[in-house]
Amino acid sequence: MKVKSIRGFRDILPEEIKRWHFIEEKCRKIFEKYGFSEIRIPILEQTDIYTSGLGDTSDIVSKEMYTFEDRDGTSITLRPEGTAGVVRSFIENSMGKKSPVNKLYYSGMMFRHERPQKGRYRGFNQMGAECFGSESAYCDADIISMLWSIFSELELNNHVKLEINSIGTSEDRAKFREELVNYFEPQKDNLCDDCKRKLDTNPLRILDCKVETCLTTIGKAPSILDFLSIDSKNHFEKIKFLLEKIDIPFTVNPKIVRGLDYYTDTVFELTTDKLGSQNAVGAGGRYDVLVKQLGGPDTPAVGFAIGLERLILLHEQVFPEEYRQNVDIYVASLGEKALNEGIYISNILRKQGLNVEYGFDKKSFKSQLKRANKINAKYTIIIGEDELDRNVFKLRNMKLSEEKEYSLDEIENFINLIS
Ligand code: ATP
Ligand code: MG
Repeated sequence: MKVKSIRGFRDILPEEIKRWHFIEEKCRKIFEKYGFSEIRIPILEQTDIYTSGLGDTSDIVSKEMYTFEDRDGTSITLRPEGTAGVVRSFIENSMGKKSPVNKLYYSGMMFRHERPQKGRYRGFNQMGAECFGSESAYCDADIISMLWSIFSELELNNHVKLEINSIGTSEDRAKFREELVNYFEPQKDNLCDDCKRKLDTNPLRILDCKVETCLTTIGKAPSILDFLSIDSKNHFEKIKFLLEKIDIPFTVNPKIVRGLDYYTDTVFELTTDKLGSQNAVGAGGRYDVLVKQLGGPDTPAVGFAIGLERLILLHEQVFPEEYRQNVDIYVASLGEKALNEGIYISNILRKQGLNVEYGFDKKSFKSQLKRANKINAKYTIIIGEDELDRNVFKLRNMKLSEEKEYSLDEIENFINLIS
């Protein structure tokens, strides 16, 4: 049997993980800075929450979901995104009754059956945030500010572009949709097959088609911004005003419609030109009807999700230096007695808060020092039979290649020797 991972699924290996930890930690800190608490929801949900939440014509529902029958015949789906599951939990746990505003963030794996390529996988990770209970533009602006601050605190703000748009209420969209069909129908032949299909199912989605030959036709299409009701217009104007006030650079792109049915009013996307066609690193928007649609109380909400693999790929390009595990001390001992002392010393140092690798495999000092170098240990403690007899240990500063001898009694306050 030759073992192999499933197509589109990948491992995150130890040599990559430090960058992941660094980025995940940064995101968590920022979510918490904005008053968000983590929620952990299951990876499997009833299929209905996605089909009725995201809309039948969305890419996710129409072709990307991992859906199968549970043993009792119910249809279940591996989560393709986080929002619907968080909404399900919000409703099930009556969160709106306990607190007028609920600010939640999540992190975890999502599953979409699409064509794998760099930055596009079938199993991938997102970190996202959802805020329930406020319909105000201040809330939208605060959420967009949180998304932006993740990128600016990671010093990636010069490599991403924030685009915002408003898609209004469902009535606004109904009028716009009619207008779009009137516009595209006579020029149908200039559109790709996918867009031709969308003309019947979801004409708004034609606007974010990336196919070269569609672009000129799309370029002259009517703009949703001309169809906004007065409330939606004011809401959007207020967000723009606030973003300017807090110095967040953005452009308005009336072509952004997002793929999912649940969005209302505000939508936004963060893109980069450093990842080829997988250029979206994060996206989100307001979804004032989803909670009700999934059977909950009428609750306005807004949120976003960041694709972690793409964020990592971007970060690697901008900061190519390796992120390594921090090893403070390598303990090299040789001979049975010294090895006995080595494990004892290692544990004392770990209790002092140090990261310690204990060389337990009876190799020569030469190969142990090689290992210490390889893992980038700051110091190596060397104990052989001779040192033991004299009740000392050698401390090697790996960077300076300097060795000093200390009494073994000093191990108890070792941390002071190196600080
Ligand atoms: P795309 O247009 O690239 O397919 P999307 O609109 O489907 O993106 P969203 O549903 O908005 O993506 O998900 C939010 C973020 O998750 C995206 O901006 C992207 O960074 C990331 N993402 C989406 N699908 C994938 C995938 N298959 N592999 C890796 N990351 C993904
Ligand atoms: Mg997609």
